[in-house]
This record gives sequence, C-alpha cells and structure tokens, in this order.
Amino acid sequence: MGGSKQYIYDFDKGDGKNKMLLGGKGANLCEMTQIGLNVPPGFTITTEACLAYLEKNQLPDGLMDAVKTHIQALEKKTGKGFGSGKNPLLVSVRSGSSMSMPGMMDTILNLGLNESSLQGLIKLTANERFAYDTYRRFIQLFGKIALDISDEHFDKHMTAVKRKFGALQDVDLKTEHLQEVAAGFMEIVQRHTGKPFPQDPYEQLEIAVGAVFHSWMGKRAVDYRKQFKITRDMANGTAVNVCTMVFGNMGNDSATGVGFTRNPGTGENIIYGEYLTNAQGEDVVAGIRTPKAISEMETEMPEIYRQLIELRDRLESHYQEVQDFEFTIEKGILYCLQTRNGKMNARAMVRTSVEMFNAGLITRERALLRIDPAILEQLLVPQLAPNFRGKSLAQGLPASPGAASGKIVFDADTAEIRGRAGEKIILVREETKPEDIHGFFQAEGILTSRGGKTSHAAVVARGMGKPCVSGCEQIVINDALRSAQIGETTLHEGDVITINGGTGHVYAGEVPTVHAEFSQEMATLLSWADEVSRLKVMANADTPNDAARAREFGAMGIGLCRTERMFNSTDRLPIVQEMILAETTEARQAALDRLLPIQRADFKGIFKAMKGLPVTVRLLDPPMHEFLPTAAQLELEIAHLHQLRDTIKGLEELPDTLKMLNPKLYQQYADGLTKLMGGLSDFKESHLEEDVISKKEVVLKKVRALAEVNPMLGHRGVRLGITYPEIYSMQIRAVLEAAALCAKEGLEIHPEIMVPQVATVEELKRIHSYVQRIHAEVKATQGIDVKFKFGSMLEVVRACMRAGRMAETAEFFSFGTNDLTQATFSFSREDAENKFLPAYTETGILEDNPFEVLDIKGVGQLMKMAVQKGRATNPELKVGICGEHGGHPGSIRFCHHVGLNYVSCSGPRVPIARLAAAQAKLLEDKYQEPV
Ligand code: ADP
Ligand code: MG
Ligand code: MG
Repeated sequence: MGGSKQYIYDFDKGDGKNKMLLGGKGANLCEMTQIGLNVPPGFTITTEACLAYLEKNQLPDGLMDAVKTHIQALEKKTGKGFGSGKNPLLVSVRSGSSMSMPGMMDTILNLGLNESSLQGLIKLTANERFAYDTYRRFIQLFGKIALDISDEHFDKHMTAVKRKFGALQDVDLKTEHLQEVAAGFMEIVQRHTGKPFPQDPYEQLEIAVGAVFHSWMGKRAVDYRKQFKITRDMANGTAVNVCTMVFGNMGNDSATGVGFTRNPGTGENIIYGEYLTNAQGEDVVAGIRTPKAISEMETEMPEIYRQLIELRDRLESHYQEVQDFEFTIEKGILYCLQTRNGKMNARAMVRTSVEMFNAGLITRERALLRIDPAILEQLLVPQLAPNFRGKSLAQGLPASPGAASGKIVFDADTAEIRGRAGEKIILVREETKPEDIHGFFQAEGILTSRGGKTSHAAVVARGMGKPCVSGCEQIVINDALRSAQIGETTLHEGDVITINGGTGHVYAGEVPTVHAEFSQEMATLLSWADEVSRLKVMANADTPNDAARAREFGAMGIGLCRTERMFNSTDRLPIVQEMILAETTEARQAALDRLLPIQRADFKGIFKAMKGLPVTVRLLDPPMHEFLPTAAQLELEIAHLHQLRDTIKGLEELPDTLKMLNPKLYQQYADGLTKLMGGLSDFKESHLEEDVISKKEVVLKKVRALAEVNPMLGHRGVRLGITYPEIYSMQIRAVLEAAALCAKEGLEIHPEIMVPQVATVEELKRIHSYVQRIHAEVKATQGIDVKFKFGSMLEVVRACMRAGRMAETAEFFSFGTNDLTQATFSFSREDAENKFLPAYTETGILEDNPFEVLDIKGVGQLMKMAVQKGRATNPELKVGICGEHGGHPGSIRFCHHVGLNYVSCSGPRVPIARLAAAQAKLLEDKYQEPV
C-alpha cells in the first residue's frame, strides 16, 4: 500500500501547522522555509511512516524509493552529490514528534560520509582537519544511534588520543590526530558489529531512518511519555527530518548556537543564548567547551549579529511567541535549524505578555491566553534562591508551594510562643489537627511526616499561603525527646531547617529564599483579565490579615469566612470550651456573651479590610468535639497526673524514712530536702489539686459523649444551629452589629450570612427566622437598618435536589464542593486519599482525584441542576463556589460554563483564578463539557 500514501514532504511543501503528521521540528522547518528564512534544504518523513514501520518492524514498501527521489531533488537544489568524491552532500537525520521530548530521541549529523566522500570534502574545503573532524563525529553518532554502540567506547578512545598528543580540548587536535581518532572509531564499529562501517550512503540513511523510528518505542522514550502523561492523541510516532548539513566547524568564521528571542528567566526583551565558534551543534549542549554569551557576538561577528537580530525579529513576529531556536553559521552565513515556542518561568511569561502586547506583536486576548494560570503560583510565594544547589535531607509531598526556613518546633503551643517572640519557626508534626491552628499562624512553614497533599496540614497551609511539605515519611518524630530522626541525622528542637513546598524537599540549615513579588506587569495583566471575565473572583479568608492580603491579590470580596478559625486561637479556645462544656443554657449563654464582643471585633476587622466589597460569613460548621482535646490525650494526661500524685506521696515520706535509717546522711542533705519538699508542695498546689484532675475527668466525659461514629456526617453545621440556637444567634448578632458599627463609621459594607450543611428547606427557614429577629433587634439598638444577604451552602446532595425551594429563602448559593464531592461519591476524603484513590487514578478508574479536580461528570451535574432549579425560582439568585476547586483553572472553566457568578479560593490562588476566569470567558465558545 505504501506507494499510495505520501510519506515525505519537502520543507518547502509541508504544512507548517500539521505537527501531528510532521512533528514539531519538521512542521517548523517547513514553516520557516516557506516564510523565507534561511533553512538548509531538506524533507520530512512523516509520523505515519513511523507508525507503519512500528507495525511491521520494517520500513514501509516504497519508502526508500521515495527517499531516493527526494535526495536526488536535494542534489539538484544544492549542486552536491550524495556520496560524491567531489562535492559531497551530507545530511542530518533528526527525530521529532509533535510533543517536545528533550533528549529522548536522537539525531545523526554528517550522514553520507565514507572513504570517498571524505576525500571529496577535503578537496572541496581544502580543509583536511575539518573533514576528519566531521568524519569522526559522524562515525561516533552513527555508531551510537544506528548501531547501538555505547558512547563510552568512543569517548575512551578519544581521551586516549588527546592524552597521547597532550591536547586539552578537541579543538587542540591536529589533522593527523583526528585521523587517528577516526581510524580507531572504525575499528570500534568493526569490533562491535562484526562488519565494516557501511559505506553506501543510502544504506546509511536506511539504517538511520529505521533507528530513529525504532527509538520511539525505546524504553527511555516510553517512560518519558508515561511520566509526562503524553498520550497518543498528543503525540503518535516520530517524524524524521533529513536536512542538508551546514558546518559550524569550518573555522573561526563558523559557529553554532542556541538562542531565545527574549530572556526566558526574566522576560527581558533582549536576545539571549550561547554559541561556540568552530563547532557542531551537539557541542553546545554537550558542554565540551564553555560557550560564549550571544552578547559577545556583537563585537566578535558584528555582521552575523545583525543577521541574528533580524532572524529573531522575524521569528517573533511570525510566531507571535517567544522562540527558542538553533542556528549555525557556516563561513559567515547564518542558517536557522530549528525553532519552537520558548519555555519560560512565570515571571518571564507575564512580562513578555505585557511587553509583546504593548509592542503590538500580540493581541490582548493572546496575551491572556498564552499563560497557563497554574504557573502564576511560582510568583506568589517565596522561593528558594534560584542558584541554590544543596542536597536535601529528605523529600515528602509538595503540599503547599513556597520555601521557608526556621527553627524546628514540635507542637503548636511552642510554635505560638516562640513565633510571637519573633523567632522564625517551622512546625514539624506527625500530622496536624484543627486545634494546632494557632501554631500555623506563627509558623513560617509546616512539615508533617504523615498525610497527603490534601491532609489537614496541606489544606490549611495552602489556605494561608504558607509552604508545607506533607507525608515526609523518612522523618521519624520523637515527641518525648523533642527530636526527629532522618536517616543518620538527628534534628533537635531549635535546629534550623528549610522546606520547599513546591518540590517537597527538606534541607538542613537556612537556605536563602527570594521574596514573592507582585510585579507591575502582573498587575497590568490581571487588570486586563478582570476586564474580560464574567466570573468574579473572591477569596476564602478568616482573619483581617488574610482579608487584607486577599485584597492585595485582587480578590473582589470574601466568598468564605470560616468562623471556627476564629474560635481556635489560644485566647478564645478556653471560652469556646466553656461554652461546649456548659451544663445549662444559662451557663452556655454566659460563655457566648463573652464570645460575642470578640467575634464582633473579628468581623469589624474583616469588614474594614474589605470595605466596599461583599464578605460572606459562614456560621459555625465543624462538630463541637473538634474544639476539645481527644479522649486518648485526656486519658493519658489523667493517668500521668495520678501517677505524679502517687510519686509525690512517696517522696513526702522520704525525709522521715531517711532520718530513721541513716541520720548522718539525713543531716548532710537536710537543707536540700527541705527545699525539695517545699517545691513539691507548691507544685502540688498549683497542678495537682483535686479539681484539676476532676475537671479533666469532666471534659473526658463530655468528649466521650460528643464522640461520633461519622463526624463528617454528624452533629455539625446547621444541625448545631438548630439544636443550640444560642450559638448561631450569637454569631448572627456579631455579624450584624459589626456591620452596624462599621456603617456608623461611614464605611460601606456588604455582609452576607451563609448557613452550612443545609439539607432541608425547613432548616434554612428556621435559621432565617433567627436572622430576621436579630436583624430587627440590632436595628432597634443600633438605629441602623443593616443591608445584608442571606444564603445557603450547597454541599449536601439533597440540598441540590431541593434548590428550587431553597431559592425562595436563600438569596445566594455557594457550592461547598469538598463536602459535595464526598457526598456524591460516598467517599470519606481522608480514607479515600490514603487508601484507594491512588489506585483508582493509576488504573484509570478515575482520571483525577475528584478532591483536587472538580468531577464535572458527577458533582458538576448536580451543580448544574441546582443552578437551573434555583434560577427558575429566582432569576437574580447569586451562585458561587467555595472550596478548593474554586482555584483550579479547569474547574473554573466549568463554573463559567454553568453560569456561576463567582468563584472563591484561597488568597494566594486569587491571581490564578482571575486569569483562569478570563480564559474561561475567552474560550467559552470552544468549551465542551466532558461526557
Ligand atoms: P535535538 O532535538 O536534540 O535538538 P536536533 O535534531 O535539533 O536534535 O540536532 C542536534 C544538533 O545538531 C542541534 O544543535 C542542531 O542545530 C544540529 N544540527 C541538526 N541538523 C543540522 C544540520 N543539517 N546542519 C548543522 N547542524 C545541524
Ligand atoms: Mg534541536
Ligand atoms: Mg463544607
């Protein structure tokens, strides 16, 4: 069949847009040729030929005949002959698929050389040294790639020759030395293959093409595709590019190099790259000699430099993108050998977007679309100094990006004390719990030895924008000794470590970090984004500090303010516990009365930070026992206290016993003993009174009473609000009074009250009645009619089903997709992530972890239905999403698609969400919901 299919395209014919067929390198060689750039002539053998080869394990019928025809055309075009003894045509045989896979497949240079064409090359160039240099390169590359002979055999011989003649570098080798190298290489080939080096250039070409095709299924390439999730519809087979050789190794007016049209590290609009004079392509990457910076070319080869700048301008204006390109200069003539879109860091992407738009190179739309929102994360947190090359002690999971250094502290209380005292600390724990939150506030970063990327530590750290490494299992923590063991190394409390939450690495000592910068360019880019998007981007923030930061990141309000975070700080927790432990409604009310002014002040702080913008306050959500110590901890403490009491009792008898048994010894230590006894009784008084222990026993009893089989499905959220109306009432009052007080100060505020875990319309109505009553009371006492909104979380499946009726009472909905995902899958998150989800995603039962990437096919459909039902009742209904998915670009596209009004995510993700929201709008016509 081979004859009927076109397997080969000349560079001046191939479709520069068809990367699937021609590979990225081939397509761009065609495109550059066709826009008139100086590309050495050649042709591309398609990926379809590769697939045909792989199917039958041989080149398709007729392929080599077609290759011959194209070589003949090349001979005509260049006036050279393939294998000619006078004016030989040499080619490179280069792999290239539609996805760039750096270093995975191979390229053979200088193909077509044999004993006769070598002489031709010598005659033609009158440069014997160059010819032998080229020859030995070819034998080695062909030997390695086409004949599968390991490089080390060639390198060993090369080194031996260099040593023999005292040459330091390959450029120091003279003609006769290179002759010796080539002769030795020939022998190596003979020895390894049992055959002489193939002399027929067509045979060379046939073997080379087959070898490149073959490399597509080589272990290296297959592993790479697996690692980077390159699927068949992204890249299927490699093309082979046959390209006339041009020589950068023809003397000092020749060179080879690689360039970026702009600086890929900073985005600065200056050509950037390296070159080597008198060298061939692979030398630059191989690091055989140290290349020079392109800027030096301006003085060394001014004319070529001018051409290079012209090439750079033409590449950029054609591709409308920063290009990463390869070039060679042969005797003063510049050739372009490859181009592709430049890979840049986030900083460079942002800067080039803004500058290319300002220069009229690209549209605003393109400026927004060319950046993957996720990479902005790099810019928003401190990073390890870019030049740092140290070795890490251990590696865990990259749970929250950014780098931080500080002294190790093993518990949240110590973290709080030392942090408050101004020390930089890293909180290191096996895993963290909600009651550790006060330690988070004071820590630079968090390191845990257990838990995944969505463990408590990870979620909270991400919310606060603090670096976190989780699940670092090499670390064994010994709480009692206040030390941790990593292999041979022992770390003590107070030792300094550095964590990199972007990679999961843990380092000993302080590693320099660089600060996040919200550059002018970023601000500009994101302001363009805001002009385009329809979705508003809000932040999840629980404190005035978080709120202020979120605002700096461009949040358009607070979509989720979790009141329980406020309950957890050390000065409030005792009052909260008192409230929980209260035996009577009056006692509970008394504790709540003390909490009211504190919450009111919290809300005032947040309202002030967000003045002019909406702030959505969620009423208390977690089950009460989360504010109490665990039963196990209490049991242990009680047991310890009993033990201590017994021990002290024993000690109290010590002086008498001693006096009786050994009066002399007693005399000797009498003073010390008296002191000790005094100390003990002081201690006893303060720590061991009957009621310390009995108090703990009361708490333990309560903790046991509050214990639930399924806390996530237990007594929490609105169910607390129904059973303890006084708790929700206090919170509602705090919100409305804070709003009234701010309004009196002349601040414009937009409070919204949100009820969690609602399942029935009746629950929502019940809470709404509290709100109406308290609103009227506040109006009476404060003399101000506070405007506010009342709404519901949708995080229970039933609430989605009842969305139509819910919208009669709720003015807004906010999807809590973390809980909704758990409920929809009937997965308990921690169990799922620790036990079976990895197997599900690895074996393809699920594409992604639904707790990280919104499950559009399931959870998304519930959302869609709820939006429709809700808006059918109330077309003005405001709908948003809070929960981690709100900051995920793919999920944001879906939220736009189903007509949400806003997404709410953690502060540091706000810029990412702003860009993603703009892209969602720009790409809305192309959106296809996964089915
Ligand atoms: P890779 O994909 O690994 O970059 P390439 O096919 O681009 O492999 O080639 C490797 C090196 O050889 C590059 O530096 C390239 O510029 C150089 N090279 C490839 N073809 C030619 C040619 N026809 N003339 C001169 N140098 C070439
Ligand atoms: Mg290349
Ligand atoms: Mg929830």
